[in-house]
Amino acid sequence: MEKKIDRGKRFVQEQAQLFRCPLCHSAMAGSTGGLTCENQHRFDVSKKGTLFFLSHQVKTDYDREMFAARRRMIQSGMYRPLLERLAEAVPENGTLLDVGCGEGSFLDLLLAQVSSQAAIGFDISKEGVYMATEQPQPAFWCVADLTNLPFAQERFDTVLNIFSPSNYREFARILKPEGQLLKVVPGPRYLQELRQAFYPDDVNKQQYSNEPVVAKFTESYRTFEKEEITYEFEIPTERRLDLLEMSPLEWGVDPARKAALKKQPLNKITVDLLLLKAENSAFL
Ligand SMILES: [Zn+2]
Repeated sequence: MEKKIDRGKRFVQEQAQLFRCPLCHSAMAGSTGGLTCENQHRFDVSKKGTLFFLSHQVKTDYDREMFAARRRMIQSGMYRPLLERLAEAVPENGTLLDVGCGEGSFLDLLLAQVSSQAAIGFDISKEGVYMATEQPQPAFWCVADLTNLPFAQERFDTVLNIFSPSNYREFARILKPEGQLLKVVPGPRYLQELRQAFYPDDVNKQQYSNEPVVAKFTESYRTFEKEEITYEFEIPTERRLDLLEMSPLEWGVDPARKAALKKQPLNKITVDLLLLKAENSAFL
């Protein structure tokens, strides 16, 4: 089997035109170690086959345990209806970028259904990106900054943005004119049983509104499609403890409350999502 580093180097050699230098914004070309820009800034592919585009290391609150719990939940089928919808929306053999890919399961499961010409996932968390390299599908993974994407103008057919922050100006720059943005945000009832179980006495923490996110999206695109995807997921017995660890909801929970929940975990959970779909030509 091809080593991760060789697979990564081969990808950037073949797809160098997708990238641009995050330091000086000039074009990149493949070099022996990875990519080099016109001003000789060098980005070498790591042993894991990834590229690191940040000027400094960023510490995030998402640790390996949380990523691992998320991975097991996603792979247990918790988001299957969403993935089916995304697979219908993503064109075959296009270029695909997953913004805020985390440990890579969403992109990986999507690539199991849709073939792509080139697929890249990036996250600000190095831990997440390293874990993503364990995924079986042929995607390239890198660590990058959402506000200064290391990608060239008009290169991508689809930008995926699942449960992660957006920079619509950058998305518009790197998407082809006929490209599209697919953004997934939680709906008001997302994980509602978990919110109630974690915070029985805190009405504010039990509630969630996506209104600010949707308002920002509405300001950014002339027209777009909106689709609610809501269902109840029956949690497999062996995954019930993972639900407690998979999201930032867990931060700040009373330890006694959590211990009680571990003894009697939830068996069902509401998945309430909103899929926002905008053509790049509608960007304002
Ligand atoms: Zn440069």
